[in-house]
Amino acid sequence: MKCRKCGTDIADKALICYRCGTATTDAKFKAPAATGRRGVRLAVIAAIVLALLVLLAFFLLHSRVMATDATRPEESRPRAIPGAGAESPGLRVKTRHDWSVGEIESIYTASLPDLVFRAQTVHRAHHRADEVQGCMLLSIKTGGCPEDCAYCPQSARYKTSVTRTDLVGLDELTEAATRARAQGATRFCMGAAWRDVPDGPDFDRVLDMVRVVRGLDMEACCTLGMLNQKQADALAAAGLTAYNHNLDTSPEFYGHIITTRTYDDRLETLARVRRAGVTVCCGGIIGMGEDRPVRYRLLGQLSSLDPHPESVPINLLVRVAGTPLADVPPADPLELVRTIATARILMPISFVRLSAGRLSLTDEAQALCFLAGANSVFLGDRLLTTPNPGTAHDERLLDRLGMRLSVSPAADLTFGSSDNPANAGG
Ligand code: SF4
Repeated sequence: MKCRKCGTDIADKALICYRCGTATTDAKFKAPAATGRRGVRLAVIAAIVLALLVLLAFFLLHSRVMATDATRPEESRPRAIPGAGAESPGLRVKTRHDWSVGEIESIYTASLPDLVFRAQTVHRAHHRADEVQGCMLLSIKTGGCPEDCAYCPQSARYKTSVTRTDLVGLDELTEAATRARAQGATRFCMGAAWRDVPDGPDFDRVLDMVRVVRGLDMEACCTLGMLNQKQADALAAAGLTAYNHNLDTSPEFYGHIITTRTYDDRLETLARVRRAGVTVCCGGIIGMGEDRPVRYRLLGQLSSLDPHPESVPINLLVRVAGTPLADVPPADPLELVRTIATARILMPISFVRLSAGRLSLTDEAQALCFLAGANSVFLGDRLLTTPNPGTAHDERLLDRLGMRLSVSPAADLTFGSSDNPANAGG
């Protein structure tokens, strides 16, 4: 017979091949050890096949979900908006109101790549990363304000180029709001240079303005100065989405900027707005000569509000001739980026609005602000009384960045927000 392994001719009764030593019968050939190795091999192959099948099933399921999502109408897609679906829902963080100054400092002063990465991670967990809300801000009553806010060209105390005007009429307001909507704004903000809101025909007209804006299916925001509870309730009844009242800066630095009303006055107005059920827009200004600790404390103050302001406008000072801050050295735009990123981390659900001062930023600096978590800008070539990039420029910028204006008002998605840029209003 021949050896079953090497084919050598061997004697018929031989038990093994004299050349290669292979057993001539099955029983002897299948050594126990060999059987064990084959079993292990088979088990490994089975495990690999099973793993491949699981991966294939997961891939098919995922592709199907993505395809369904892509063909779904825009308005029915999951929205990466506060409280709703997001790009990284598993990374959502719990909102906190007890950030210490030390914690805020360590966030703010991290290396810029680390800071922006962290802010972007938080941002994606709560918002769409490729959308910003477009807002339009109209000065409905300009100049002649008795307050002494050092940054504001509308203060009657400073000699600036701002011309005082009375409250605009309803027709003018309607025309401006309609135009804003056509340009892609989903929020229309109205700013009046008042210390506090005067009861009477002017306030009644403001209430009508709110109704007009809401009737155009836009969010309505006002910044009118200090409010009493009755006025806050009346604005809420008229349908006001948000009320802007900025803290501007930290409590410690506040006295360098404003002396005609206190920090507590501001907090009280914010509390009345909250009680009325109107969402809060509250932020600050950087570049007024403050140092970093002032910014930590401003951000700490904002994030201590419970709930957080739904809208947090971060303004870069526009230095206007005639105001006391006209000659302060310009702030480093990267400090604005750090401020925005820290605000995003501290207040993950809020809309962080890149507000006044954009004209002094390059497109690249603005892109960094979006990366840091800013998700709103003001459209139009004016913010109250100061210049702004203009809608055409913003369209080009968003296009270059592969971003877009959101199509739905933020308030339809759990809450709204507002703004007060342009070194003025409230
Ligand atoms: S910021 Fe508002 S309150 Fe202050 S001066 Fe200007 S308009 Fe008046």
